[in-house]
Amino acid sequence: MKKTYSNKILFYSLLFVFIFSNVICYGALTKGQIESEEKGYFIYIIWDAFRYDYYEWANSGQYPGTPALNELIENGVLFTDASTGIPSITNPMQAVLVTGAYPRTTGNIYRYFDKEDQIVKQTRRDNSAETLAEAASKQGLKVASVQQFMVQDRGTSYEDPSHLYIQPSGSFQKRVDESIKILKGQPVVTQGDTEVVFEGIPDIMFIYSDDLDTVGHNEKPSYGYYDSIPADREEERIERCVEVLIQMDSELARLIDTLKEIGIYEKTSFVIAADHGMTPYSGTSSLNDLIEILENCLEALGHRVNNDTVVFLAKDQAANEANKIVIVSVGLQAQIYLNWDFTQEEYDFIVNELKSSLYSEFIGGVLTFDELQARGSHPKTGDMLVWPKPPHHFKDSKTNYKAPGGHDTIDESSQHVFLLMSGAGFKKGTTINKKVYNWDIVPTISKVLKIEPPENADGKVVIEAIQ
Ligand SMILES: [Zn+2]
Repeated sequence: MKKTYSNKILFYSLLFVFIFSNVICYGALTKGQIESEEKGYFIYIIWDAFRYDYYEWANSGQYPGTPALNELIENGVLFTDASTGIPSITNPMQAVLVTGAYPRTTGNIYRYFDKEDQIVKQTRRDNSAETLAEAASKQGLKVASVQQFMVQDRGTSYEDPSHLYIQPSGSFQKRVDESIKILKGQPVVTQGDTEVVFEGIPDIMFIYSDDLDTVGHNEKPSYGYYDSIPADREEERIERCVEVLIQMDSELARLIDTLKEIGIYEKTSFVIAADHGMTPYSGTSSLNDLIEILENCLEALGHRVNNDTVVFLAKDQAANEANKIVIVSVGLQAQIYLNWDFTQEEYDFIVNELKSSLYSEFIGGVLTFDELQARGSHPKTGDMLVWPKPPHHFKDSKTNYKAPGGHDTIDESSQHVFLLMSGAGFKKGTTINKKVYNWDIVPTISKVLKIEPPENADGKVVIEAIQ
């Protein structure tokens, strides 16, 4: 009797263990199955200075076109009105592109006049917002960055084979070579002679390239691979930019072929984005004309004006008590700081004078402090911002320029950037004409990756693009 009872206990215990372990196994298997079915990969490419027009010009019939980009567009979404932020300068906008946060949130605003310290300062890779690489790593994803420097030690590093940062330098071609090695599980060089093999396939891979920026600036190159002498004319500069784009497109094709070869193309989503466009400028600077308008404003407001009243200050230069207006510029737009305890009436008077000068040949437009704030800018960007009408510029230089390019401006040529989203997670063959900003990209990528977006993201998911 007792034995039968204990046998029963043993039987039911075994039955319970059997059922329970099956529930666990079944649960685990099911979860595993779901994971492998849903598992996708993301490739996030940023082509520095990819102005939207370049894409249209390259495909206008005059050039061989961009078959790889076009394949991705057929398989995805082209944005015809994507805009960058302010200032449209590499580091501040790369910070936006990896965080989904406004410049106000990242704190990266490049050059500015610090009223408290009365000196012109400059940010470097400063970023107070969580990056997509950090958010993805925290949530268990594997991340690789091929020279997306804004996530170096911010979610990827030289030392971590499943959250790896590498910096191959050189052209996009070289960076695609290294990206292919990572995808194929081949060793890549991190620092010096150290070689690392990425553990598995990255869930998200960042690839950054500055070929278009180098050729677009058309100056004596101080970085990058492009080493020919500068073009003399704007037409020639544009032609070179389009040719470089077409060359990069053929490298993109190699990357796509690799994804097909290793069998993950169908599961891969893509974003190709840019930090800013490129605006041509030439001739001599309009800075003195701008200073004159501001001096006249101060005189009309009853201030005594001399050569120290309205000044242009370069990086690290300090202001003195005589400097009532400080102008800061990287070459195109002028950030204007009123350096006294001004009234709203005085402020409005200056803005109105600048706006009424709009029809003067060199002013492209004016943004007030409130308008800058509405565009996500940092409060230290300036009390107001004036941008030049191309090809004018506000460089502190006596040079008579031939055909260089710059991008710190609100002009369409610098603000309107290329953007596509393509592949597994996105709609196919779609064009989105509504205005989107570069801070919307990271929240959208996070949604497709099914992860929580970075903590400080300000942008919105572009839901129309997602499948
Ligand atoms: Zn840039």
